Amino acid sequence: MADRDVMLVTGGSRGIGAAIVRLAGQGRQVAFFYRSSRAEAEACVRAAAAEGVQATPIQADVSDEASLLRGFEAVDKLGTLRVLVNNAGVTGGRSRLEDVTAAQLDEVLRVNVAGAFLCAREAVRRMSPRRGGAGGCIVNISSGAAKSGSPNAWIHYAATKGAMDTMTLGLAREVAAEGIRVNAVRPGVIATDIHADRSPEQFEAMTRMIPQGRMGQPEEVARMVLWLASEQASYVTGGLFDVSGGL
Ligand code: NAP
Repeated sequence: MADRDVMLVTGGSRGIGAAIVRLAGQGRQVAFFYRSSRAEAEACVRAAAAEGVQATPIQADVSDEASLLRGFEAVDKLGTLRVLVNNAGVTGGRSRLEDVTAAQLDEVLRVNVAGAFLCAREAVRRMSPRRGGAGGCIVNISSGAAKSGSPNAWIHYAATKGAMDTMTLGLAREVAAEGIRVNAVRPGVIATDIHADRSPEQFEAMTRMIPQGRMGQPEEVARMVLWLASEQASYVTGGLFDVSGGL
């Protein structure tokens, strides 16, 4: 990437997003969106600086179009957007489908589906040569849940990741000839705050199901994302990549 090229990671204050920001590579300019965790966002900036990454936190809620558009305007001031990592996501909370509420569905759809679509739209508007851009790359953070359907936990969440996979396939083909690559990474069970509501018994049962016998680390997902965002993946588009310890 050139000096003024920018990578944007949505949801970069914690978990997988923060690892992507921190490991983005010496000299890389990275902007990241966060919703409310200001202290964590500042900690992420410091951790990134220690790795030679210049990270800029931007408070922007991807479930709110006006907020997201303000976030993209802030990114434009930093340089040219060349990579978008659509990472911000929520589970909507654990619930069997028979108990799911309209409010849960609304939240998970707005953040995981509408948010990812609108961020992808803004990225394509900036990257496409049809609009004066110079190409780029989008990596969607989906989930292994899109394959399992996550029964007894969060079918609502799993379905949003299915939507993200479908968007990846369609958008990759829509913009391939415009020099924009679109891929998805499907993490398995990764050690982040997203699992904070699980009991020790649930953790143990979950870990037993993983062929490699352990949860993944955010850095293990970040490395795949950063490879997909690199020139090494120049002929890779429309792919759905599992990072899941064999799950
Ligand atoms: P996490 O630790 O809970 O972090 C979520 C991040 O997303 C935070 O930075 C949060 O910002 C941000 N965020 C949430 N809602 C947002 C919104 N409306 N606007 C802007 N930012 C928002 O989650 P994680 O485990 O790293 O998950 C990251 C992605 O990986 C998600 O898409 C998740 O579905 C996917 N994933 C995770 C796992 C796993 O096992 N961890 C497995 C498969 C897929 P604040 O800090 O401000 O709240």
